[in-house]
Amino acid sequence: MEHLIGENWHALSVEETLELFESDEIEGLSPLNIKHREEYFGLNEIKQKNKETKLKKFFMQFHNALIYILLAASFITFLLGEYIDSSVIFAVVIINVVVGFIQEVKAQEAIESLKNLIDTNAIVIREGKKHEISSKKLVPGDIVILESGSKVPSDIRLISVKDLKVDESMLTGESLPVIKNIETMDEKTLLNDRNNMIYSGTFVTYGRAKGIVIATAKHTQVGKIANLIHESVSLQTPLTRKISQFSKLLLYIILLLAAVTLAVGLLREYSFVDIFMASVALAVGAIPEGLPAAVTITLAIGVHKMAKKNAIIRKLPAVETLGSVTTICSDKTGTLTQNKMFVTNIFTASSLYEVKGVGYEPKGEFLLDKKVLKTIPKELYETLLSSYLCNEAYLIQKDKEYEISGDPTEGALIVAALKMGINEYEINKAHKRLDILPFESDRQYMATLNEDEEKQINEIHLKGSIERVLPLCSNMLSQKGTKKFNLAEIENEAKSLASKGLRVLAVAKKRVEENEIENSRLKDDFVFLGLVAMIDPPRQEAIESVKACKTAGINIIMITGDHALTAFSIAKMMNILNKEDKFEDTALNAKELHELSDTQLIEKLKTTKVFARVEPEQKLRIVDALQARGEIVAMTGDGVNDAPALKQADIGIAMGKTGTEVAKEASDMLLTDDNFSSIAKAVKEGRNVFDNLIKFITWTLPTNLGEGLVILFSIMLGFSLPILPVQILWINMTTAIFLGLMLVFEKKEENIMTRPPRTPSTPILSKELLIMMLTVGFYMLISSTTIFEYYINKGVNEEYARTVAVNIFVFIEIFYLFTCKNLEKSTFKINPFDNRYLLYGVFLMIVLQILFTNSSLLNSAFGTTSLSLYSWGLIVLVSFFIIFIVEILKYFLFYKKRN
Ligand code: ADP
Ligand code: MG
Repeated sequence: MEHLIGENWHALSVEETLELFESDEIEGLSPLNIKHREEYFGLNEIKQKNKETKLKKFFMQFHNALIYILLAASFITFLLGEYIDSSVIFAVVIINVVVGFIQEVKAQEAIESLKNLIDTNAIVIREGKKHEISSKKLVPGDIVILESGSKVPSDIRLISVKDLKVDESMLTGESLPVIKNIETMDEKTLLNDRNNMIYSGTFVTYGRAKGIVIATAKHTQVGKIANLIHESVSLQTPLTRKISQFSKLLLYIILLLAAVTLAVGLLREYSFVDIFMASVALAVGAIPEGLPAAVTITLAIGVHKMAKKNAIIRKLPAVETLGSVTTICSDKTGTLTQNKMFVTNIFTASSLYEVKGVGYEPKGEFLLDKKVLKTIPKELYETLLSSYLCNEAYLIQKDKEYEISGDPTEGALIVAALKMGINEYEINKAHKRLDILPFESDRQYMATLNEDEEKQINEIHLKGSIERVLPLCSNMLSQKGTKKFNLAEIENEAKSLASKGLRVLAVAKKRVEENEIENSRLKDDFVFLGLVAMIDPPRQEAIESVKACKTAGINIIMITGDHALTAFSIAKMMNILNKEDKFEDTALNAKELHELSDTQLIEKLKTTKVFARVEPEQKLRIVDALQARGEIVAMTGDGVNDAPALKQADIGIAMGKTGTEVAKEASDMLLTDDNFSSIAKAVKEGRNVFDNLIKFITWTLPTNLGEGLVILFSIMLGFSLPILPVQILWINMTTAIFLGLMLVFEKKEENIMTRPPRTPSTPILSKELLIMMLTVGFYMLISSTTIFEYYINKGVNEEYARTVAVNIFVFIEIFYLFTCKNLEKSTFKINPFDNRYLLYGVFLMIVLQILFTNSSLLNSAFGTTSLSLYSWGLIVLVSFFIIFIVEILKYFLFYKKRN
């Protein structure tokens, strides 16, 4: 099969290519050929080489200031002959590196595995039929069909094109779309100029194409450079960046303090070994080792929870940003509404018909003035016939259930047309389609050119928005043949249907001589046939989510290509607008939007909640204006032209089902169910993620502060160290894992969706929390030092006194952990035991402390010893006291907030 691997396909004609690949434009590849080629070429996917990056990632874990300090400490203690300390410190380095490595790889894999949920599909022709298959299953010789928004799934020689434009910037760096054709080219043509070829990984931004797959997987052009473009997931977010800045600052402070300690110690004529160990203790104590890992894990868990709720995070920072979203701009059709459309009314000449029926089943009556029609009037028939012909949807029957394949708007028209009892086979035969201009949002209409076999004429059937179609009409069909067209009258009729929340399309046709639709032929002279109105009911759960978002202080804006009156009416049904809101203040048309200056738009956004007939380019303006108002904007989108707005928004949200690949690629988040309420759920998760991060930080930092202070004070005051470096390492490592990390599993706070969004510009830790952390840190210092001195004065040995001091630290952390479950509310007003992971963690931590105190192995490693029951009692008592301190603080710090 080697003859199918090559370079110069652009120099072969379409026929030669098809022949070589034993393929057929209409039939596709034979099943036998598909099978053989699947075996020979394998799956159409590019495997990225990950191995070296993993090794590199492992060694990158050592590249960390803290680890340097620890390694140096381990090395010097070794030289000083302190072998136990040296090996404990070294063990900590290894544990830190391994844990860090595993966390990072896991988090990364979790996020990357989400990519697999987003399978790209391709439309192929096999056995004469169109199939939608995973693009991984493509083999050379397959005939594929592409349309605007598709990602090119493999390297392809074009067979036919219709206005095809392709964005090849990812290959060539050239950002302007390239116009493609099918002419055979000179063999020497350079890759960038091969206009009869399209390449894997590029995007169709306009038009349609049919082509033959000539290379898959590693044989494609991107496949050949695959190892250059390993697209690894970045684990960085605004918060992690702030934390690493903070860590750096902290590091300098610590190094400075360690130097001071060293100097003071030497002046006081401590032994060098002791004073060196003290500086090391200070350094390792004051650095929050667990912080980066905890942040990554919290974010990864957030990503996982969101995925379960149909929101796939593509870029990690989105998890965090979601928590502070202040405005959500949502599409109407399909996101807020069900996208299950049913025709309810048809207006022709001067009659308004009602259409009955249940679901998609093509059965139902037509009513005029509440009376069932026995025969279908000509205008009604013609309206629905054109709607049927100018259509790309299908009605399919699956075990008695009817389903629509294709655009729901078109599906509704098919169902309505079939209710007339027409015979699809006959109709298709009698009206052969010669050409098509597919629906594009920015055009707002669709047209087909069909040959009427009986009358021997060609006709253009046109359907689309009233604004676009009605101006093209000069006559209309009535009972007595065609008559003069009254635009104003029809427009009024359309508006009255739209204000009921119905989606209204106008249908028209025109006789022509040509066999091709040229845009120029769509200028005038159409015969208006009728208006078709359909309902698209709001999603019930979206109505509830709108309410939830509003309570959470989030502003909802509806953006739609639909008519302003339709959108306004739906916005009222969904409570995006209040009952008393007026159309003039709250709804804006694309045209009006064009006329506004940027400053006027910013002003208008105070009250505007509905943008209608919006062109995708205008979405970008809306995002910009909202951001200029200081809003954090989430914006949904699905089309090719939505990409810039999705990128500009703080959270770009693409539709998983109906979205184009271009939109998905530009997005931060993807909705697998296209449902607005999944956005609301993701916001809720996002807020929880942020809450839990703050809780972790508030819980962990006081210990580092306390430890640092203990060392600093004892050196300054000339005491011996109440806790040793290895003991500090023990505290930090064990409590971070068994206590702190459990905060990641904290349930959502009650008021999570009733409080306003977090303002991103405010510091992560409020003044109140800083006060709380300082107080807890100082309490750790005072309690551990006092008790240590108390035991020393009593004459017990240092080992005993230190074991007590270490336990005080750990037990304060345990009790403090419970108060951190809610940073503002009293611990007595919440259920402190509702997080079972936290309870397991506390239990394990206590077991570890018992071992730390009583096992001879740990005794010799950490210089500890077993304690009397009295000492244990004292430890628990002193530690328990932290609860009262924090409660009193909470009362005073957040008193105002509660009242
Ligand atoms: P949205 O999805 O926000 O409702 P669209 O861009 O899909 O907006 O549609 C805009 C307008 O174009 C609709 O109000 C309707 O009048 C018209 N339209 C929608 N779908 C079709 C279609 N398949 N064929 C012809 N016209 C359509
Ligand atoms: Mg649409």
